Amino acid sequence: MSNEINSSNFIRNIVVEDLESGKHKEIITRFPPEPNGYLHIGHAKSILLNFGLAEEFKGKTHLRFDDTNPVKEDTEYVESIKEDVKWLGGNWNELFFASDYFDEMYNRAILLIKKGKAYVCDLSPEESKEYKGTLTKPGIESPYRNRSVEENLDLFERMKNGEFADGEKVLRAKIDMASANINMRDPIIYRISHSTHHNTGDKWCIYPMYDFAHPLEDAIEHVTHSICTLEFEDHRPLYDWVVSECEMEATPRQIEFARLNMTNTVMSKRKLKQLVDENVVDGWDDPRMPTICGLRRKGCTPEALKNFCTAIGVAKANSIVDSQMLDYFIREDLQLKAPLAMAVLNPLKLVITNYPENESEMLVIENNAKDETQGTREVPFSRELYIEKEDFMEIPPKKYFRLFPGNEVRLKGAYFVKCTDIIKDENGEVIEVHCTYDPETKSGSGFTGRKVKGTIHWVDAKTCIPAEFRLYEPLILDDAPENEGKHFLEQINPHSMEVLQGFIEPTAFKDAKPQDKFQMVRNGFFNVDTKYTTSDKLVFNRIVPLKSSFKLS
Ligand code: ATP
Ligand code: MG
Repeated sequence: MSNEINSSNFIRNIVVEDLESGKHKEIITRFPPEPNGYLHIGHAKSILLNFGLAEEFKGKTHLRFDDTNPVKEDTEYVESIKEDVKWLGGNWNELFFASDYFDEMYNRAILLIKKGKAYVCDLSPEESKEYKGTLTKPGIESPYRNRSVEENLDLFERMKNGEFADGEKVLRAKIDMASANINMRDPIIYRISHSTHHNTGDKWCIYPMYDFAHPLEDAIEHVTHSICTLEFEDHRPLYDWVVSECEMEATPRQIEFARLNMTNTVMSKRKLKQLVDENVVDGWDDPRMPTICGLRRKGCTPEALKNFCTAIGVAKANSIVDSQMLDYFIREDLQLKAPLAMAVLNPLKLVITNYPENESEMLVIENNAKDETQGTREVPFSRELYIEKEDFMEIPPKKYFRLFPGNEVRLKGAYFVKCTDIIKDENGEVIEVHCTYDPETKSGSGFTGRKVKGTIHWVDAKTCIPAEFRLYEPLILDDAPENEGKHFLEQINPHSMEVLQGFIEPTAFKDAKPQDKFQMVRNGFFNVDTKYTTSDKLVFNRIVPLKSSFKLS
């Protein structure tokens, strides 16, 4: 994995300081996803940051499933997360499940009770909310706050033994109901939930809350730098309190950075799950999804993602990144990797009336104009071809240099052709364009007799192969969907996918298999789809068009 994402940012600076001062001999970071959905591009940023730092400073990174909530979690998600982290180049040193620490967490809670730092509270959720106070009003102490250690130990054990219903009792840390930081007003650290956990089954009916569990997980694993997103900044005092009061040997440091937000993109797993559950998209790996598996299926490469994350950097202030910036890095990456080929997405028949009827020839065309080493291929050419519908106009506007009656253009890698006639169907739609070709103008022959302004691509009608093309636009119309008041489901782009039936040239795609990437002349970069491609038919996802007005500032 490249270290560039860390080339210079405030978190890296902290790490450097801690190593130089001798505070740590080795750093340990972690990536702690909750297995309640598939990973998205925001997680990619966090993965690259955590794994990148450990790699640069010869430390370690743990992949830890933060599976303390029994209800929403699933092993399907666990497997997908592992696959995605690997794909990004994240090699974890250890694989942990937070649920493996339930015993230890329980014991630390008992320690808190014994120290008079935690108590069992019987307030209802509504009452608790009222007692909590607000930003301007201090909280009120619970009437159960001063229960004796013995009573608390007894009640907590009975909570664990299943004697109470969900919500009947909670264990709370005893900190400060008057604290200016609401998170410190006796937060709940254990709750009752009679549900089956994907890892521990029915062993437990009490589960630790995130704010209690997470610092303990970090400390148990001797994580040195616990990197999280900005919304946890106000939780840091509680994080430190838990580590210290639970008398953990290691004292991890929580550091917050701004989460990744992108234009025309919803990122939260809850929203992404809704898109899947309501069939707005075709699963978590739909190429329109900002999930890592969706981006992979669309054809984005890990290198492009890394370069994108490097460019956006790691900051302390929230911002929103133009989603076209990712496209820019995809284009940059595929420019040299993806071989050039011709495909016609919206076919229109072109007949060369002066080309001999039962003849054909093989033309030699280069595979990548930007890289000679990728060699050449032979492309069949004969009397009948397909061109793009949009490359012909019966009545052309000004500055239209492609094909129209009487005009001459170059067929890419082949000859000049001149439009002599058109054939229409009963609705008046052009269904065939007739041309004559000039054998003197063969590409590579050194012909200089005259020039044409337009070059169009084509495939040979006799030998071309049918294929499906899926073109995408942003799924969400809104520029800043996470900030707006409007519901994101009302912002779905009705034109986010267009499916076209066209043709590909035969040679370039001979051994094409899912995940192979091509640069289709004029049409963009395409990836062979992993889900719908069959042995009979290739289905292509457009990754990005060739050009964009987006400029990297
Ligand atoms: P979401 O809000 O999308 O459901 P989450 O924060 O609940 O995400 P977790 O599985 O808890 O998801 O997150 C795992 C790690 O990924 C955390 O360290 C979290 O801070 C980080 N992370 C999540 N979303 C982003 C984002 N948009 N940008 C950067 N890091 C993120
Ligand atoms: Mg979460």
